[in-house]
Amino acid sequence: MPCVRRPLLRLTTPYCLAIAALAAAFAIAPTASQAQKHDAKHAEKTAPAAPKTPIQIVADLSEAPRKLYHAEVDLPVTEGPLTLITPEWIPGNHRPTGPAEDITGVVFSIDGKAIAWRRDDENLYEFHVTIPKGVSTLHAHLDCIVTARVSQKMAVLEWEKLLLYPAGIPVKDIPIQPSLKVPAGWGVGTALQAEDAPGYPVPAAGSTTKFAATTVEQLEDSPIITGQYFHEFPLAPEITPKHYIDVVSDAPEDSNLRPAVLAEVSNLVREASVEYASHHYRVYHFLLTLSDIAGGEGLEHGQSSDNGVGEKGFADDGHQLAESDLLAHEFTHSWNGKYRRPYNLYQDTFAKMQEGSLLWVYEGMTQYLGNVLAARSGLKNQEQYRDMLALSAAELDYTPGRDWRPTEDTAIAASILRGGSPVWSNWKRGQDYYQEGELLWLDADTLIRKQTNNQKSLDDFLKVFLGLGGDTGPEIVTYNREELIKDLNAVTPYDWAKFLHDRVDLINPRADVAGIEQGGYRLVYHDKPSKSERTLSGGGGRRRGGLDCWYSLGLRISGDGQIYDVRWNGPSDKAQLAPGYKILAVNGHVFSNEALQDAIRGAKGNTEPIKLIVQADSFVSPFTIDYHDGERYPVLERIDGTPAYLDDITKPRTTPEKAPADKTKDDE
Ligand SMILES: [Zn+2]
Repeated sequence: MPCVRRPLLRLTTPYCLAIAALAAAFAIAPTASQAQKHDAKHAEKTAPAAPKTPIQIVADLSEAPRKLYHAEVDLPVTEGPLTLITPEWIPGNHRPTGPAEDITGVVFSIDGKAIAWRRDDENLYEFHVTIPKGVSTLHAHLDCIVTARVSQKMAVLEWEKLLLYPAGIPVKDIPIQPSLKVPAGWGVGTALQAEDAPGYPVPAAGSTTKFAATTVEQLEDSPIITGQYFHEFPLAPEITPKHYIDVVSDAPEDSNLRPAVLAEVSNLVREASVEYASHHYRVYHFLLTLSDIAGGEGLEHGQSSDNGVGEKGFADDGHQLAESDLLAHEFTHSWNGKYRRPYNLYQDTFAKMQEGSLLWVYEGMTQYLGNVLAARSGLKNQEQYRDMLALSAAELDYTPGRDWRPTEDTAIAASILRGGSPVWSNWKRGQDYYQEGELLWLDADTLIRKQTNNQKSLDDFLKVFLGLGGDTGPEIVTYNREELIKDLNAVTPYDWAKFLHDRVDLINPRADVAGIEQGGYRLVYHDKPSKSERTLSGGGGRRRGGLDCWYSLGLRISGDGQIYDVRWNGPSDKAQLAPGYKILAVNGHVFSNEALQDAIRGAKGNTEPIKLIVQADSFVSPFTIDYHDGERYPVLERIDGTPAYLDDITKPRTTPEKAPADKTKDDE
């Protein structure tokens, strides 16, 4: 997901705001001499020195319900031309999502008097100003129009929305001291440390909270959630450093998480502490929003994570199943992604492109470990783990885009594969490095177990790779593929270079299910969906209210017959159906899920094709699908007489906190 475990579509709806008129009133056109100075400065490319005094930034979220954040920034300056910049490449987003287009109302001033500025002609994130002699502080005001992660009752601040700092200096070298204003009575959750209260948590406040000075790099990595209905719960109290989950919700009762969920998240903290044999933070805050308005999110940070789910996302076991790996995934990123970072994904400024070629480790291994730790913690059970692994493996195995595009290319092209339309997406491939990585690291884990008679596992590798240096603060230590191979070889000698090359760099028409099979299970297809698939879809193998015919007809359709994707080279593709078409009738009956299901069952084992009446744009035509293998839904089936490593992998390593009996029931 942003990291995003799950891709999000960012809203870019333009807002017409009175505040824009205010900005226009202050805007001053550059003079010819200023433009010349800018060009001269550009040619010189002298690296500016890092400021010694911290930038002061006050983030004002008091108008968050009106979708406006404000910032007052005081920057230490010296005489001469100065280039200020806002972040472009956001860590964890794997693409240039800095909200430059949403930043408005920009005014630079000295002693209360506005001065001229000019945007850079090439880098639209840069502002050029000229500081007169004798001036040591430049004030900047800016607003950001915020269309996601806010509601009337809550707000999330990822600092790239308001940050402004000198360009061309490594962001780890720029000191900054943040302060925060929130609406009266709203609670605050963050890993930032309050200036006057070095302990945690940050006291809830309706007034301004001043935080301890940090760096631009760390501030960008330290989001804030705030809301009217706010709860903070300590987790696994016996473990140091301290862990909390901070929750805001739109409805008052939702932020008071169920005791069962709190026990499971405490178990997650214990399991991760053992599995990764280290911590790379001074404190950790899970930040969780529960809202149907503020939108979904999963974005990792070193000392916290920004998690957004629906209003009832953790309200009962049924809802929780869909979100069961979110907290474990984003938490794992504190080690895998934040502390250990691919050498080419880390850049010393947010202006440089973050390259994705190792995302099958950053995201793929995290996808594997997030699901494993969720199972060990009780956030889902072992059967649910297997059911969801089956769904994921089948999806990959039935992605024909793998015929032309290797997994590594989905990682290199990550920044152009996020979001997008589902239309023919199976032929394009998406950000498959998440799920492909999960299968790859399961393969490696079970291979190590097989090679060592279950005496060693990926756990041993993680203690070396992620536990490097023991407990540290929020640092970044980069790695490359050679280091992975070396650390894997230290666990058990094998041709790991070939293992990775074969699975990542080469075109593989089939998904890597070796890990499932070495784990004692096989991927098969039944004529009824698994219990977990029924829970996730709220019915018999249905997705989005439609019927899941992906592994039979090769169709994804909504409940009203609208086709949103067709599996390339599948039966419906051969029948010339296309995304966007709408099925009006099936075998002489008006379309319904049941009518289509009856037709699939009726065609099983005979030669009679399924007859459809289909609307394409404003035309209506008959189509026939020649398919006779019945309904098919993916499940994992035990291979008798083989070691069940998959069950060993998902067993808790610590004594689980007993989750209190829950009143809610998942569906049967
Ligand atoms: Zn992730």
